[in-house]
Amino acid sequence: MTSSFTDIIKGDVITVDHPEYISSLARWAKNAERKARVVVFVKDADDVSRSIIYAKENNLQIAIRGGGHNAAGASSAEDGLVIDLSRYLQGVRVDAKEKLAYVGGGALWKHVDAEAIKYGLATVGGKVNHLPPVKTGVGGLTVGGGHGYLSDRHGLTIDNLKQVTIVTASGATLTANESENEDLFWAVRGGGSNFGVVTEFVFQLHPQRATVFAGAILFPVQKAKELVEATTKWLENIKADESMTQVYAVDASGKLLIAAFVFFNGSEEEGRMKFKSLYDIGPAVDLAKEIPYEELNGLMGTELDHGKSYYLSGLSQKKPCYEATVELIQKLSESSKTGLRPAVGFEYMSQAKVNSVPVSATAFRRQLAYNILCNIQWDGEGPDRTDEARLLAREMTEIILRGQGTLSEAEKQGYTNYGHDLSLPTSLSIAPHLDHQGPSSKVERAFTTNYPRLQQIKKKYDPDVIFNKWYPIEPAA
Ligand SMILES: Cc1cc2nc3c(=O)[nH]c(=O)nc-3n(C[C@H](O)[C@H](O)[C@H](O)COP(=O)(O)OP(=O)(O)OC[C@H]3O[C@@H](n4cnc5c(N)ncnc54)[C@H](O)[C@@H]3O)c2cc1C
Repeated sequence: MTSSFTDIIKGDVITVDHPEYISSLARWAKNAERKARVVVFVKDADDVSRSIIYAKENNLQIAIRGGGHNAAGASSAEDGLVIDLSRYLQGVRVDAKEKLAYVGGGALWKHVDAEAIKYGLATVGGKVNHLPPVKTGVGGLTVGGGHGYLSDRHGLTIDNLKQVTIVTASGATLTANESENEDLFWAVRGGGSNFGVVTEFVFQLHPQRATVFAGAILFPVQKAKELVEATTKWLENIKADESMTQVYAVDASGKLLIAAFVFFNGSEEEGRMKFKSLYDIGPAVDLAKEIPYEELNGLMGTELDHGKSYYLSGLSQKKPCYEATVELIQKLSESSKTGLRPAVGFEYMSQAKVNSVPVSATAFRRQLAYNILCNIQWDGEGPDRTDEARLLAREMTEIILRGQGTLSEAEKQGYTNYGHDLSLPTSLSIAPHLDHQGPSSKVERAFTTNYPRLQQIKKKYDPDVIFNKWYPIEPAA
């Protein structure tokens, strides 16, 4: 490390001999950690720009770290340079008059929710907060599309994004919005970390009531049939402001659990009416109640500890299916005996608002149906079990899709931010994904009809593919 680089960086430069080196590599998923050559806790856009130039001069792969929640290692770089926004660029400022939030590129959703609601406002964040040292960042979730409890009313996170400040591969700091650098603004809304480092996001805020009805309702596995039937019926008339995430999981003792995390953006009395068909089944435990809005995103994921290893896989579902659910329950129980802890979350909410935006309006390939997340956990200190977890995720996917009739390729796709195998090239000088039809076509599938335009924009802003950690786009010829 040259002293000239450390001298020009206002933030902190961490290398292997630094006391903070190990902690600077920590990620939510143990298997997402990589031994970087240098971690730069940047203070501002100039630090980002200098870090990019340094990495290019020294042929170091670049990773950008927002919250560090990505389980595939997209925010880590083996022997590379990590631009870490989480220490100094995590501020949130609300302009209540204009209903806008100015949010640092390394901020956490928890802080956005807490700050905005002070003014009776909110925007669309994710559904799992995870606090330090386990953090869900604004950065990765937003550039990957972003959906959450308020999506049925306000769309995706990117539909509420008004502007970004972004440092591109040349080291230039640009403002991108609907009238300035529009191509870049289009690409960054769903194109992930392919186009640069976002140092500030500006989000539209919406009036939000102070309390909401939410929480887990637990059902014994014997009630699965009634639950599927009630859910199917409820989905027929689903509207904005009411949603449910059903989680099928195996706990540490090997017991299968079914939890329906219900949400109604209103009072407890109305909420209980909305979910009457579920209550009529007779849940084993009812933890749902009226809670302060800012606690909503902390309800789920509490058992997904920091420091474990994880494999994530996303897919879509058009309708619940009992036969598939029975098979899934069996598969979950069997596989838990192997030491893997799988869980499947079915995210049921009205998709009307999200899909009212044309696919071509942003880079994001909109979900045509309900999101499903398969999440497989194992001991973070033990041997790597990625291959087994991948196989199990495939088996679970096949089971879930069996109940869906004939689906197009687009309909089978899951949310890009739920992907694990992102086809990451490991070296700057060779970008292996460009040489193989397989991985490249995987990237293409992630963006479907938007891919050719993304390739043009990649050519303009990152022709050498220095941002290559998350579905790396091949620049147009
Ligand atoms: C249990 C669980 C639940 C989830 N629930 C939801 C959900 O409800 N809704 C949802 O939308 N997603 C959800 N996700 C996925 C979530 O969007 C990703 O985990 C996302 O990566 C988190 O963002 P991060 O900043 O913490 O990621 P990081 O690990 O820091 O980064 C991930 C990717 O984003 C890039 N990135 C991060 N910050 C920036 C930035 N400022 N500028 C440019 N690129 C950046 C990184 O380079 C990397 O490629 C969930 C994930 C898990 C594991």
